[in-house]
Amino acid sequence: MTSNLTIQERYQHIHDRVARAAGKAGRSASDVTLVAVSKTFPASDIARHHGFGQMDFGENKIQELTLKQESLSNSHIRWHYIGHLQRNKAKFLTSRVHLFHALDSVRLARELNKRLAMDDQTLDCLLQVNVSGEDSKFGVDPEHVDRVLTGIAGFDRLRVQGLMTLAAPAADPELVRGQFALLREVAARHDDHMQPPHNGGPLLSMGMSSDFEVAIEEGATHIRIGSLLFGERT
Ligand SMILES: *Cc1c(COP(=O)(O)O)cnc(C)c1O
Repeated sequence: MTSNLTIQERYQHIHDRVARAAGKAGRSASDVTLVAVSKTFPASDIARHHGFGQMDFGENKIQELTLKQESLSNSHIRWHYIGHLQRNKAKFLTSRVHLFHALDSVRLARELNKRLAMDDQTLDCLLQVNVSGEDSKFGVDPEHVDRVLTGIAGFDRLRVQGLMTLAAPAADPELVRGQFALLREVAARHDDHMQPPHNGGPLLSMGMSSDFEVAIEEGATHIRIGSLLFGERT
C-alpha cells in the first residue's frame, strides 16, 4: 500500500497520522515524541531520517548503539535505549542515552545508580510495566509498581520520569486500548513518585507501528516506531 512512496513521503505520512490521532484526542502533535526505532538498520538509514529532521532514535542492543553513535558522532541525535538491559551491561549505558525506557527492577536501578555515581552523572528513565500480563514480556507487574518505585526512590542518580509498556500483539489495535489506558492509570496513581520534565504529567512511552494511534489517544507522550519507518526487519 505504501510501498510506492519515497522514504520521505512515508515519513511525512506517519507524521500526518500522529497529528490526526493527537487531534482526535484533543492533544497537540507536539506533545508526542516519535522515537524512530532503528535497530537492525544501518547508520546510513538513521542519517537519512535525521536529514528529514528526525531527532530521536531508539536502539535495543548496547553494542549496536555504540557503533551507530560512533559513526554518527557529529549529529545531534537523541538516543533512546528501549531494550532489556542486563545488569552487567549497566556500565555501558550510563553516559550514552537521552532516555532509558526499560528500567525493570530495583536491582538494575541499584547497579545503574552505582555506575552513575562513579561517573558523576544522572540518567532519565522510564519504568517498564507489563500491562499485558504475558510471561514473555519484561516489566514490572502493575500491582508491584508502588513497591519498585519506592525501592528506587533513594537512588538519587536516577530520575524516573514516567512509564513504558509494550502491548500484546493484536490484529486490531482497539483490542489493546485497555492496556494503554491501564498504563496511564498506573502512572496517575503513582505520579508523586515520578519526576517528569518541566512540571508535566508522567511520560508514557507506548505504541508501536501497529498500534500507535490508539496509544496516542490514550495519552502516549512517546511512540516507538520501527518497521513503518524503516521497513520490515529480517
Ligand atoms: C522493535 C521495538 C519497537 C518497534 O516495533 P515496530 O513494530 O517495528 O514499530 C518498539 N518498542 C520496542 C521496545 C521494540 O523493541
